[in-house]
Amino acid sequence: MLLKGKVSIITAASRGIGAGVATVFAREGSNLVIASRSRERLEALAKKLNNVTVVPVEADLTKREDVRRVVEEAIKNFGRVDVLVYNTGPPKPGAFLELTEEDWDYGVRLLMLSAVWITRDVLPHMINNGGGRLIYITSSTLKQPIPTLTLSNVIRISIAGLVKTLAYQLGRYNILVNGIMQGYVDTERVREVAEARARRENRAVEEVLREMALEIPLGRLARPEEIGEIAAFLASDRSSYLSGSLILVDGGRTLCI
Ligand code: NAD
Repeated sequence: MLLKGKVSIITAASRGIGAGVATVFAREGSNLVIASRSRERLEALAKKLNNVTVVPVEADLTKREDVRRVVEEAIKNFGRVDVLVYNTGPPKPGAFLELTEEDWDYGVRLLMLSAVWITRDVLPHMINNGGGRLIYITSSTLKQPIPTLTLSNVIRISIAGLVKTLAYQLGRYNILVNGIMQGYVDTERVREVAEARARRENRAVEEVLREMALEIPLGRLARPEEIGEIAAFLASDRSSYLSGSLILVDGGRTLCI
């Protein structure tokens, strides 16, 4: 077991990529605090991951007080945090001219400030504890923007700055900081987007998903657990000299170096 006995916080974990990460972390023996807006879904997931202790925390990452509570619950239940896997909800899609100022305000809280807040809350505990791992789940749009995902293209790039800056500043505390830039992952969200496109274009959803897969050299979307495997490696003692890296996990789709 790669993560036996560790304590990990995973945000936006009730479904999709976050749930995939939680599943792999539980298999590898990490106790968990899983957070997202849906208590019901969190509790259903916690029931499945019954080989470790799982604490579900209902929290909206765009609200400062909710984010604070996630770390407080971790400390209350386990007394320490070894790993933070920061994941967040998907931003509103849309071209620049379609977005309102409220969309931007919400997007900044969802994609950037939530990362800053939870990092601020978790760091004193990691420093006291002699080290830790910060892992930020972002998107392959950091490397190659997707034209219709304005908020993601513009705001998420700040997480690359956060990873590089923190890796530099926190190495002395034995805190390793990395990011994951995933491409298409087969989640409910991606299926919802494909369904909407299929309806608009009067096509079958499977056809839209097949078309997405054709863009990927490996010929398929990732499973959420495949992102979890990379996160587990980054959280484990096996990656003891890896910090300040943003790892592209996209089946070979992005061609720029
Ligand atoms: P998803 O919609 O399947 O799951 C999102 C999770 O985030 C859910 O658990 C939901 O409850 C939670 N969430 C949403 N808004 C929240 C909020 N305000 N506070 C707390 N939790 C919230 O999405 P996914 O496909 O798993 O994507 C996860 C992240 O990765 C998103 O930011 C998405 O944009 C990004 N991403 C996804 C893909 C992909 O192909 N799936 C690719 C690149 C990037």
